[in-house]
Amino acid sequence: MSLLPSCQQVQTELTEYAEGALPLPRRIGIWVHLLLCRVCAGFLRGLRAMPGLAKRSLAPPELTPEDATRALAEVQAALKRKNS
Ligand SMILES: [Zn+2]
Repeated sequence: MSLLPSCQQVQTELTEYAEGALPLPRRIGIWVHLLLCRVCAGFLRGLRAMPGLAKRSLAPPELTPEDATRALAEVQAALKRKNS
């Protein structure tokens, strides 16, 4: 079990994260993920650039499972490097 949420979890909760609506432990997990994952950081930038009314119609991420798996592997590899 990983401390880090997956890209999918991050993107699902990104709106709430941006609004500060998540409990602290989840925000920390997402924050760390965003530091390490350019894909999700890009989503957050896009989210913040959007006017509030567009949040509701936020399109599902155009991310293939392969992309998501690779991005997560990169994050986990980066974390391992950090911890060692
Ligand atoms: Zn990610």
